[in-house]
This record gives sequence, C-alpha cells and structure tokens, in this order.
Amino acid sequence: MSDVQTFDIVIIGGGPAGGLASLAMAARGFSCALVDAADPAAMRAAAFDGRTSAISYASARVFKRLGLWEAISPEAEPIRDILVTDGRAKSRFSEGAVSNFSLHFDSRELGEDQPLGWIVENKIIRDALFDAIEATDTITLLAPAMRAATKYNPENAIVDLADGRQLVAKLVIAADGRRSLLRAEAGIKTNDWRYNQTGIVATVAHEKPHHGVAQEFFLPSGPFAILPMTHNRSSLVWTEDAGAAPAYMALSDEKFRIEIENRFGPYLGALEPAGPRWSYPLAFTLAQSYAAPRLALIGDAAHAIHPIAGQGYNLGIKDIAALADVLSEGRDVGLDIGAMTVLQNYQRWRRFDSAALALGCDSLVRLFSNDIGPLRLARSLGMSAVGKVKPLRDFFMRQAGADMGALPSLMQREA
Ligand SMILES: Cc1cc2nc3c(=O)[nH]c(=O)nc-3n(C[C@H](O)[C@H](O)[C@H](O)COP(=O)(O)OP(=O)(O)OC[C@H]3O[C@@H](n4cnc5c(N)ncnc54)[C@H](O)[C@@H]3O)c2cc1C
Repeated sequence: MSDVQTFDIVIIGGGPAGGLASLAMAARGFSCALVDAADPAAMRAAAFDGRTSAISYASARVFKRLGLWEAISPEAEPIRDILVTDGRAKSRFSEGAVSNFSLHFDSRELGEDQPLGWIVENKIIRDALFDAIEATDTITLLAPAMRAATKYNPENAIVDLADGRQLVAKLVIAADGRRSLLRAEAGIKTNDWRYNQTGIVATVAHEKPHHGVAQEFFLPSGPFAILPMTHNRSSLVWTEDAGAAPAYMALSDEKFRIEIENRFGPYLGALEPAGPRWSYPLAFTLAQSYAAPRLALIGDAAHAIHPIAGQGYNLGIKDIAALADVLSEGRDVGLDIGAMTVLQNYQRWRRFDSAALALGCDSLVRLFSNDIGPLRLARSLGMSAVGKVKPLRDFFMRQAGADMGALPSLMQREA
C-alpha cells in the first residue's frame, strides 16, 4: 500500500458519530477514510461500552435510510411511555419520598402508531456500524491508527498518521470526541464545565415486564433513569454525586442490588444486576464554532452534554444528516466541499439548534439536581403545567423524538 492515499473526506474518530458519518457520506458518493486510535475488535467487545442510547424516531429514520435498522431493530426496545417523577430515594437516612407531581408522556397521544423512541445497546449500534463500514468499498477503515498531525492548505488537507502514512482530502471531519484535539489545534474555543456528577450505568434483569415504560426519577443527587431494554432487562443510568459514586461502584453485587431495589421500588419485582457497572464523569462542552477551513466538527467534538434527556448521540446524528445535505449540495453545484462558503451553511444549520438543546438540558440538570425548597416548588409547578396541557405534552414528545425544526433529508418523514 502506498504511504499517501487520497480521499474526498478523512474522518478522525470511529465512534458512534464518526462511524455513522462515514456511511452517510459514502451514501452521497464521497470516498472516505475512517481513522480510529482503537482496534475495532476492542470497540465491538461487550466490555468496551455498557451504555444504551435512547434513539429518537427521527434518528431511527437515518438508520433506516442507511440500511442499518434491519441489524439494529431486533434489539431495539420501543419506548411506549415516559414517566417523570420528582422524588427522593429511599436510603438508610430517608424513607424516600415522591412529590405529588409527576409527568406522563404517552406515545398513543401523538395519534400515530409510533413509539417515543427506542432503547438500544451501544454495542448493537457499534456492531451494525462496523459491519456496514466493512461492506462498503468506498470507506477505508484505518484502525488502530493514531492521527499525529493535520495541515490545512488552500487546496487540500493533509493528515499524518503516527505510523507514517499520509491521507490527503478536501475535508477533515472531527469526530474525535469531547476532548477533540482537532478542535483545539484549529483554535476553536469551547464553553465547558463539569457537573460534579458521575453517571453510573448498569443493566438489570427483572422479574416483571416493563411494558416499554421509561422511568426518570429526579433525585437530589441527579436523575435516576430506568430505561426499557429487550429480554426483560432495563438499563440503569444513575447520576450520582461525584464524591459518592466511587463507593457505589465498589459495592458487592448484592449490596448494589439492595441500593437499586430501594430506588426502583417494587414495580419490576425482583432485580438482578446483569453484567458489570460502568461510570462516566459528566461534563458540558460546546464548541464556539462547528467549522473552520477544511474542517467540520460533529458529535461530541462539537457538543458533549449531560445524559439527562438522552439526546447526545441524537444531536450527533442530526449533525451528520445535515452535513451530508450541505456537502452534497455544495459538490453538485461545483463548489469545493472544504471551503467555508459550503461549511458555513453547516455551521448556521447546526450550531444554534444544538446549542439551544444543549443549554436546555443543562438547565434541566440545574433545576432538578437539588433539594432546595423554592426550586422544588418551581419544578413541581412546571411539571404540573406540562402535565395538564396536551399541546405542551405533544411539544415535549416531538422534541424528544427530534422531529422538529429544519430536518435534513435523511431525517424527514416518508413523502
Ligand atoms: C452515561 C451516558 C449515557 C448516554 N445516553 C445517551 C442516550 O440515551 N442517547 C443519546 O443520544 N446519547 C447518549 N449519551 C451520549 C452519547 O453516548 C455520546 O454523545 C456519543 O457516544 C458520542 O459519540 P462520538 O462518536 O461523538 O464520540 P466518542 O464516542 O467519544 O468517539 C470518539 C472516537 O475518536 C477516537 N479518537 C480520538 N482521538 C483520536 C486520534 N487522535 N486519532 C484517532 N482516533 C481518535 C476515539 O478512539 C473514539 O473512538 C450518553 C452519554 C453518557 C456518558
């Protein structure tokens, strides 16, 4: 193999965003190199990523149109209802309490036979992506391979890999995650802060069926979500104070089971942790620009948000679908896809939309992760208002389905 290879696009980062971007760009006729520092075999292993993702129905349309849904849907559990409750966990210090205020989002109220979204294991998504990438001739997967340096020229970008290979392209897509080095090297500033919270993630098997109900309890330490999975299992996303989380992570399986039983209550019957626990420090990062000459940011490289509303990857999917439209339209009228005249359209489309959602999620975290009296009252009043007004409930359900605003063609409803 020659040490210099030429592509239309080089994508750095083969995570959920970069992998999907390579397929979306290939479907528009662009040749791509997809580079990741990790070995795909390791990224497909069950131990690599224990999270699930809530996939909105607009995101599911992208998977369908790129031919991925057939592999994903058998293991995608439809979300029929979402129950949001303002409460306190039962512990040895408190009896636990649920306020009078709770919200119920019922998919049947939208009047269409579609769920509010699906819960899918990240491993299932990664497998579907890598299988499709390996079957696509116009994607060259270079992994494990580390990007060492990038040079942006007037006519192209040159990416040097640590092993000496060189990749030449019109455009580089940064899908290298929250701590994106491509973003930093391009001088793009970010707004970022830590939440002093850790997301503890585990899969739990249970005695009784969940009936497709996703539960989210707002506890003072942060939201505690129980998300329905296939095979009578649920995914637990437990946001805990960063100082307390290591102690919960270190508990024996039996003690952990007792802790989660206290928080779940009796509605799912007997519980059994199914597999290991994972923990993720939670932080907010928002890039101040999503593009620079010959560089576009997608996924967590552009915006990494709190998982309170399960929207992080969904935002990345919308970036990818929008970028696919912008680049193919630019190419079709003879423009250089790495030029700012083209990339500015992507920046205009995505920056405001994703910043609004990211900051909305941030406000939810601040409003709900505390036990301060006036804030408890404010959120109770807010939940009560949303609960009583059907158009407001419909608005939140469509927002959760990411089915609002200017939708890229991969996300639009069938004609
Ligand atoms: C607890 C938790 C729960 C979540 N739940 C949901 C949910 O329900 N729904 C939802 O939509 N989102 C959810 N998210 C968010 C979602 O997981 C992320 O938005 C998504 O994983 C980001 O994917 P990414 O590909 O942008 O970044 P990453 O997954 O971080 O991938 C970046 C990739 O770049 C590679 N890389 C980095 N630097 C280099 C380099 N120099 N050279 C080569 N490769 C490099 C890395 O190896 C990595 O594979 C959740 C997040 C957390 C923490």
